[in-house]
Amino acid sequence: MRYKKRRHAAVNKNEQKVLRRGREAQGGSPLGEIYPGVSRLTLKLRFLSQRQEVVSEQTRDYGPADAVDFSCACPGSCGVGKFDLTEMIQTRIAAHEPSAEVNMPCKAESFGSPAPCGYSLQCGIEVRYSIPDPAAPFSA
Ligand SMILES: [Zn+2]
Repeated sequence: MRYKKRRHAAVNKNEQKVLRRGREAQGGSPLGEIYPGVSRLTLKLRFLSQRQEVVSEQTRDYGPADAVDFSCACPGSCGVGKFDLTEMIQTRIAAHEPSAEVNMPCKAESFGSPAPCGYSLQCGIEVRYSIPDPAAPFSA
C-alpha cells in the first residue's frame, strides 16, 4: 500500500487508518493501536454454569500486533448471551492495574423461558505495560 502514502512522516495517519479499516473487517483492531502502552494482555476466561461448575475455559493472549476481541458468547442455555469485557479492560488499563479478576453474570434469558440464563463469566486479566506510567492527562 506504499503508493497510497501522501506525506513522509514517521507515523502516517492515513496509513494507520487504512490499516485499521482492514483489520476491523477481520474483527478487531490490534492491541497496540487501542492500548499503545500495553505490551501484553492475557485474559483467562472461565465460564460457570448455574451451579458454579466450570463449563469451559479459554485463555486469550495478545501482543501489540494481535487483533483483539474482548467479547465472548455465553455457552449457557440462553444461546444469545454475550459477555463484553471491553469496559472492564478499559477501566483496569486506565488505572494501570497489572491484574484483576472480574465476574459477570449473563444478562440474557434462558431459551424458551423467562428465567435468567444463570451462567457467568469469571475472567482474570493480566496486563504488562511497556511504559512505567501512563501520564496521559488527555486520555478518555
Ligand atoms: Zn447466557
